[in-house]
Amino acid sequence: MDTPQAYDVVILGTGPAGLQAAIHAARKKVSVLVLGKETKSSLFHAHIENFCCIFNVPGEEILNTGRQQAAGFGAQFLEEDVLSIIQQAKGFELQTESGATIRTSALIIATGTHRNRLGVKGEKEFIGKGVSYCVDCDGNFYKGQTVAVVGNESAAVDGALTLTGIAAQVHLVCDRLDVSDALKTRMENSRVTIHAGKKVARIQGDQEVESLLLQDGVSIKVNGVFIELGAKGLLQLATTLGIALDDEMRYVRTDKGQATNLPGIYAAGDICGPPWQMAKAVGEGCVAGINAAAFARGSNRSQ
Ligand SMILES: Cc1cc2nc3c(=O)[nH]c(=O)nc-3n(C[C@H](O)[C@H](O)[C@H](O)COP(=O)(O)OP(=O)(O)OC[C@H]3O[C@@H](n4cnc5c(N)ncnc54)[C@H](O)[C@@H]3O)c2cc1C
Repeated sequence: MDTPQAYDVVILGTGPAGLQAAIHAARKKVSVLVLGKETKSSLFHAHIENFCCIFNVPGEEILNTGRQQAAGFGAQFLEEDVLSIIQQAKGFELQTESGATIRTSALIIATGTHRNRLGVKGEKEFIGKGVSYCVDCDGNFYKGQTVAVVGNESAAVDGALTLTGIAAQVHLVCDRLDVSDALKTRMENSRVTIHAGKKVARIQGDQEVESLLLQDGVSIKVNGVFIELGAKGLLQLATTLGIALDDEMRYVRTDKGQATNLPGIYAAGDICGPPWQMAKAVGEGCVAGINAAAFARGSNRSQ
C-alpha cells in the first residue's frame, strides 16, 4: 500500500471559502492541500456583481485566479472528492475517491451547500418512508432488502458500494457517470446492478416506496431509494466524525474563529449557513485558514 501523504492543513472545497483559506494558511508557511472540483463550486456558473471591488466578473475566472494565488503561496491541489474522514489519536485521515489516503493535523471544511433534490414525483411524499439522502445515516434500515441509489458522482457510487454490505440487491441509476477511474472499476467489480444512461421519472408506492419508474418505462422494485447527488455532503461526513450541526441539522456550527466543536476542524462558507454569498465565504475562509495553520503549528510542536 502507498504511504499516506501528510499535510499540516487539508481543505475540502475549491470554492471561494476554500481558496481564501488556502491563501491565508499557505502564507503561514504550513503545508496545505486543497481537495475538490472547481466546476462543482456554486460560483462556477455565477456572475459576481456585489462583491466589493469586483464587478460583473465570471465566477470561473474568479476561481481560476484564486487557485493561481493559492498555488503561488505553495498550496497544492488534488481534484478529487473525499469519501471519508477518520479522527486519529493525532489529526485526521482522509480517503479520496481514487483510493488515496491523506493525513492532516488540521482540517477545513468548505464544501458549500447541497441543493440535492431530484425533483421527481414521489420524492417529497416518501421522505422518511423509503426516500433518503444519506446512505451512511439510513443504510442499515435496509438489511437484506432491495435498494436503489440515484446519482452520477462519487457520493452515489460510494453509497452503492457501501450498501452492497447491507442490502440483498443494490441498483445504481445514473444518467452519466462522473467519478474517478478507480471508483468506477471498484463498482464494476461489485454486485451493484448499474442502470447507465437512465433517468428516474417517478418514485412509486402506497404507504412506502415500492418501486422506481425510469423514463424509458422500466420499473425497478425497491424498498428504498437513496438520492445521492454530487459529492459526499456535510451530513455524511459529519455523521461519522461527530461535528456539531445547527438545530435543523443543515449547517456546521462554528465559533467566531470558525472552529467547530472538534479541535482541529474548522468550517467556512455556505456550509456554515446563509447568507450564501461570496463575501461571507471569503471572510470565513480567511479566519479559518489563519486559525487552522496556527492549530497545525501548535500540534506539530507538541508531537
Ligand atoms: C447561480 C448562482 C449565482 C450566484 N450569484 C452570487 C452573487 O452574485 N454574489 C455572491 O456573493 N454569491 C453568489 N452566489 C453564491 C456563491 O457562489 C456562494 O455563496 C459561494 O460560492 C460559496 O462558496 P463556498 O466556498 O462555501 O462553496 P462552493 O463555492 O459551493 O464550493 C464548494 C466546494 O466544495 C467541494 N466539495 C464538495 N463536497 C466535497 C467532498 N466530499 N470532497 C471534496 N470537496 C468537496 C466542491 O467540489 C467545491 O469545490 C451564487 C450562487 C449561484 C449558484
